[in-house]
Amino acid sequence: AGLDNLDFAVLCALALAVVAYFGKDTLKAMFTSDDSLTSVTSTSRDIVEVAKENGKNYLVLYGSQTGTGEDYAKKFAKELITKFQLKVMCVDVEKYDFENLSQLSPNVPISFFISTYGEGDFPDGAVALEEFLRGVEAGSLSNLKYTLFGLGNSTYEFYNGASKKAEEYLKESGANLIGSFGLADDGAGTTDEDYLSWKDATLDALKDVLSLDEHEEKFEPAYKYEELEQFYDESVSHGEPTTAYLPDNVVKGPFTHNQPFLSPIVKSKELFKNTDRNCIHAEFSLEGSNLKYTTGDHLGLLPSNSDEHVKQFLTTFNLKPDVVFDLISTDATIQPPFPVPTSIGAAVRHYLEITGPVSRAVFGQLIEFAPNEEVKAKLSVLAKDKDEFAKQITSKQFNFTDAVLYLSEGKPWSTVPWNFLLETLPHMQPRYYSISSSSTSEPNAVHVTAVVENQPNPAQEGKKITGVATNLLRNVQLVQNKVDVAEIEKNEKENKSSTPSLPVHYDLNGPRNLYKDFKLPIHIRHSQFRLPSNPSTPVIMIGPGTGVAPFRGFIRERVAYKENHKDDAEQLGKHILFYGSRNHDDYLYSEEWPEYSKKLDESFELVVAHSRLGDSKKKTYVQDLLIERRDDIFKMIKDGAFIYVCGDAKGMAQGVHRSLVQIISEGNKVSEEDASEIIKMMKTNGKYQEDVW
Ligand code: FAD
Repeated sequence: AGLDNLDFAVLCALALAVVAYFGKDTLKAMFTSDDSLTSVTSTSRDIVEVAKENGKNYLVLYGSQTGTGEDYAKKFAKELITKFQLKVMCVDVEKYDFENLSQLSPNVPISFFISTYGEGDFPDGAVALEEFLRGVEAGSLSNLKYTLFGLGNSTYEFYNGASKKAEEYLKESGANLIGSFGLADDGAGTTDEDYLSWKDATLDALKDVLSLDEHEEKFEPAYKYEELEQFYDESVSHGEPTTAYLPDNVVKGPFTHNQPFLSPIVKSKELFKNTDRNCIHAEFSLEGSNLKYTTGDHLGLLPSNSDEHVKQFLTTFNLKPDVVFDLISTDATIQPPFPVPTSIGAAVRHYLEITGPVSRAVFGQLIEFAPNEEVKAKLSVLAKDKDEFAKQITSKQFNFTDAVLYLSEGKPWSTVPWNFLLETLPHMQPRYYSISSSSTSEPNAVHVTAVVENQPNPAQEGKKITGVATNLLRNVQLVQNKVDVAEIEKNEKENKSSTPSLPVHYDLNGPRNLYKDFKLPIHIRHSQFRLPSNPSTPVIMIGPGTGVAPFRGFIRERVAYKENHKDDAEQLGKHILFYGSRNHDDYLYSEEWPEYSKKLDESFELVVAHSRLGDSKKKTYVQDLLIERRDDIFKMIKDGAFIYVCGDAKGMAQGVHRSLVQIISEGNKVSEEDASEIIKMMKTNGKYQEDVW
């Protein structure tokens, strides 16, 4: 509430005075609060002790929010093992304590993989590591040799903020960096290539500094792989999200990222009209889960692959879906990546990411399993040549199966061992959605608004590039609302439509029928995206497309506030929402807004930009409308408004930022640079919040 009252004039004066006096970095430092950090004290999790007990001579440690950092850490660890035969321990920093790190043998280097989340923050699981590194005495880690790779997105203000902080702390501690500090930029779409160039240089540097012998690279399984005779008894996973869902176990929660809740979708509908694009509104019930959320949080949804992609994958690698297998860790520090024993079919459907762009690194690893010399030669070229790989594979939007079939000219690859595939391909990750309901008006339901990822692929006629989770939601919506899919498909065939409107289908019943009646595994991820606690504070919301999702939640929250405080309601501040769609067909929740306006009177205003309406050549975007309303916006900011931006991180969020810089610079009669500084300070103070992806 204190922040709500922080005067804009005071903020501006402060921002400018501090910039003038100390420079920009000090400004940032002054407004960064670390009060929320928590420390882990248990001594049974001592990283030094565990490494020693397990005879490890190299540590790869990752702090990962969505699984990408983990994935690269594991790839790197694998390469250290195969190339240098090191005894590597690759673990999540969340699971260990670092207090005794100064006692780690100087012969045990560490490679850190740190992702950035939110406003330059460490991932949730790495907060304790951050606290340790920040507090470490200067010079006390001078024995430590390390490498560091950061994963971030340059479209965010605090690009790679967490890894940059880690680098600063490690330098301060006297630790010795081997090679150079690597940065991956998801905003430029270059994460994989950034990793590969950093990795090649780092392995060379490690070889030199540690005098390592290089061995021929060969796949070394991390688990002992065993095919089992037993077929689908109680202990065999059919693709359940965790072993807690196996028949003998009772799942009572708590439901988290690691233990998702099987939530029934109680209602779903198509939000777009008369268009070949789709956007699904889905309502997940939290009844009986004990899960709580706050308006502005995210829903995590763990999807599974479509029938078509599973079939294509199994056929390409000549795999038998009913084969049941077990993975036995040869090392106490490694756990199987998903519940085992399970069947190949279940693992491909539920546990592996088999679509999505291909990593060039995997091509290098595939060489030893190429089906013939000709394919081996092609793989060798593509694994080394970044430009050729981009031209032949990435630009054609091939997924892994498409890519290998392209190389073998459609012939199956029976030569690739299944345990290589399961250890090399990324594992299925949850997708996140900004919750579009209000925890006050619907505490037991979570609404999401998901646009379906479904585009024709120019490289493969008649085929579409499909997103895993959003097409699953669309299938649920069609079946739940008893839409006659067969009829649609029959018409399409008769009309010889070149790209089917429903390109993929799913097993909606799930493992052991657990997902029957439209259930899906979900969890809640708490965010910082929050309405001001004082309802009289003015609010500016900017959310075109599905970026409107959390603002539907915000407005429902204000409606509920008004209804619940009939006699003692504070006067609501002005709430203005800038929304954009192409035209009327994809105008989300168009029938709901007038209802909200009626209930909130003049305290709610919706301003709509259509970018492709009728024949008009003029495209209007939310950032244009902000400029049109510059006087009102500047007045609201001066009156202490909170600004929220949600949706596309690349074009929109940057365009909006530019418009706001212009408005503040003109209104305050300061340079654009100073206006940017003011916005930066508003961000650090929570008065300018972004929920962008
Ligand atoms: P994926 O399977 O993850 O694919 C991602 C994209 O890659 C798709 O566009 C797909 O078509 C494309 N693709 C697939 N294969 C290839 C290939 N071989 N080559 C090139 N491209 C390929 N989305 C919303 O709709 N609404 C929201 O409210 C929302 N909120 C979000 C909030 C946060 C914090 C974040 C991080 C994301 C949010 N998203 C939201 C995005 C959402 O999480 C998903 O990324 C999105 O729905 C796509 O998921 P998917 O599984 O359908 O696609």
